[in-house]
Amino acid sequence: MVKNIAVIRGDGIGPEIVEQALNVLNKVAELYGHTFNYTAVDMGGCAIDKWGDPLPEQMLKKCVESDSVLLGAVGGNKWNDVPGHMRPEKGLLRLRAGMGVYSNNRPAKIWKQLADASPLKKSIVDKGIDFIIVRELIGGIYFGEHKTEGDTAIDVLTYNEKEIERIGRIGFETARKRNKKLCSVEKSNVLDSSRLWKKVMHRLAEQYPDVELSDMLVDNCAMQIVKNPAQFDVIVTENMFGDILSDEASMITGSIGMIPSSSLGATTCGLYEPIHGSAPDIAGKDLANPIGTILSAAMMLRFSFDMPKEADAIENAVSAYLDAGYRTADIMSEGMTQVGCSRCGELIISNLRKE
Ligand code: NAD
Repeated sequence: MVKNIAVIRGDGIGPEIVEQALNVLNKVAELYGHTFNYTAVDMGGCAIDKWGDPLPEQMLKKCVESDSVLLGAVGGNKWNDVPGHMRPEKGLLRLRAGMGVYSNNRPAKIWKQLADASPLKKSIVDKGIDFIIVRELIGGIYFGEHKTEGDTAIDVLTYNEKEIERIGRIGFETARKRNKKLCSVEKSNVLDSSRLWKKVMHRLAEQYPDVELSDMLVDNCAMQIVKNPAQFDVIVTENMFGDILSDEASMITGSIGMIPSSSLGATTCGLYEPIHGSAPDIAGKDLANPIGTILSAAMMLRFSFDMPKEADAIENAVSAYLDAGYRTADIMSEGMTQVGCSRCGELIISNLRKE
């Protein structure tokens, strides 16, 4: 298969971690007979320096015209004093809006080799934690009317059937590519918007008989994520609930450098990026952990390019690398061998096998 990937290296550690992810993709292409073409896109601080704009129109166009976008990270102290509309992070918001990605998907997975890094009890971690939160990204209370009248503040929460249905589909499709269990999280005992959410999810379920749908109230879900996270495969939820639950879920895994994410809309063209920022404190020192970006590339293969075997191969290579006892500084522990960003990439590639 031939795929065109827009590549945003960005700022700080962005270029270092993206280089390792591209090396991994090149090895996958060689093993499986694919061609990945890369188009470099300037976004963030580096684009402000070069173009005077964190995401020039011609750069957004390259992303929209690609088969998917791989992003490192943007931002840094150097651009702290630029006006608000020119900040590097504005480029990211414009990219998400321009690509029309309304679904943010964040996995919570504990690698058995890093179980000690989790703040959860060993007996809970040992049951295995591997789920994805699919969060609606451009609707709900964050996008409703906000106003203050005297001593009263008002934030409006609105969802319509179309908005719920399109995120619901992403939830069902994601579950279909995993263990076929979808948990819809809402607050239908109190909120009308949640009752509509639940109704639409159950209507959609008729089109996905192979996926088992369950319902859970958000307060219970917040408890279950720390009490028995092994029960979850895919969680689908609205914007504010997803914001809070996905941060809770990433904390239980223990390392920010290991977590990938994807954002998807109506097409298969997605935005793939690690959840961390540009880490200016370690930039240019070959210290960054590239695994969050490498796993983001694996998500791209699985969810946008329908290449599950290739995605499995990358995830297995990461697991083999951890099994062999190598760690970057952020996840280093006693008895392990510390490696830098580029060596980490090389070792993961040396473990890549055709599944
Ligand atoms: P950060 O995620 O960049 O760093 C937080 C801490 O985690 C730092 O100590 C850093 O060294 C460490 N860290 C992060 N990623 C790591 C990795 N891959 N390997 C090893 N250690 C890692 O968050 P911050 O310091 O709050 O933000 C720095 C800059 O990044 C800011 O300008 C912020 O606006 C920006 N940012 C960008 C994105 C994005 O591009 N999507 C997201 C968050 C923050």
